[in-house]
Amino acid sequence: MLRRPLAGLAAAARVRAPPDGMSGPRPVVLSGPSGAGKSTLLKRLLQEHRGIFGFSVSRLSARYHEEPEARRGEWQSKAAVQAVQAMNRICVLDVDLQGVRNIKATDLQPIYISVQPPSLHVLEERLRQRNTETEESLEKRLAAARADMESSKEPGLFDAVIINDSLEQAYAELKEALSEEIKKAQRTGA
Ligand code: ADP
Repeated sequence: MLRRPLAGLAAAARVRAPPDGMSGPRPVVLSGPSGAGKSTLLKRLLQEHRGIFGFSVSRLSARYHEEPEARRGEWQSKAAVQAVQAMNRICVLDVDLQGVRNIKATDLQPIYISVQPPSLHVLEERLRQRNTETEESLEKRLAAARADMESSKEPGLFDAVIINDSLEQAYAELKEALSEEIKKAQRTGA
């Protein structure tokens, strides 16, 4: 049963392998409080850049908002990240702060990006509008967000902290932060 997916991966890697002498594009770590806008930004990024990004785990967006913490624990395989990289794709890791610290302990050398809401008040409004929270989970998320907003200011923790006020502006900043890697991934191995 395992043979097929692995064979598929190897075939894909041959087609999309980075040009000789080049390592694949660096992965990207996206972090930030729930409701900050990571999924929204990522969706746009994937739509605009087909075949450029990849995931180290299957990402079922329907389930994603129901169990983000559970899903966030699933990336933890360096080999899976490197397999995406070997296909000349930018591997997206959507992790919480603990995940960021775990990845810092590896040699994956991703670009670390934190997406933050303009304020806790705005975050609360967006979470309410998203309609995914109970009153209890909302309180938990806001408490976690407060800590996350503080930690994102820690010097050297993130390469870029994007304040998602205007979606257009935030998206432009995200693309800018990833522009070098996007260019790398757009070069074909042929
Ligand atoms: P995350 O993936 O970080 O949990 P989402 O992408 O689900 O966050 O965004 C939370 C909610 O805020 C969604 O309903 C989304 O449509 C909305 N949203 C995201 N970015 C903006 C923005 N710049 N302005 C207004 N609403 C936004």
